[in-house]
Amino acid sequence: MYCPFCSANDTKVIDSRLVSGGHQVRRRRECLACHERYTTFENAELVMPRIIKRDGSREPFNEDKMRSGLSRALEKRPVSMEQIELAVNKLKSQMRATGEREISSEMLGDLIMAQLKELDKVAYLRFASVYLSFEDISEFADEITRLGKEKNGKTKKTKQVKAVK
Ligand SMILES: [Zn+2]
Repeated sequence: MYCPFCSANDTKVIDSRLVSGGHQVRRRRECLACHERYTTFENAELVMPRIIKRDGSREPFNEDKMRSGLSRALEKRPVSMEQIELAVNKLKSQMRATGEREISSEMLGDLIMAQLKELDKVAYLRFASVYLSFEDISEFADEITRLGKEKNGKTKKTKQVKAVK
């Protein structure tokens, strides 16, 4: 590829390593003309389903948008970047596994919520409160009630375990 600084086409790779749990190759390159250094990331190109929006229009799946949505929901939560990357990869696998060429934004939202629910309950509620439309608000309230019950259930279980010990 051309050097992003001087557009010369002679660059050499000075370092190459696997990142994102082996899903990406990170290469450090140096331009032979101007000697500037830069980094490139290499991904396998896999066809992702397109997204059908609520109004019926289609748009290409945007991985960065999904990643920033997850990061925003997980802000200041005890979840590492590595865990977020794994969640992104898992979501992409799930999307491809549908075998569909197009999936609805609702379905994608549901997959993301299921993933967040596993990662962090607070992030899940943050995301759900933003994602769910007004007409879904009663379902959202039910979900909060259900989560509250689940939490109480867990507390009781912990107490029981302690009592056994
Ligand atoms: Zn250059």
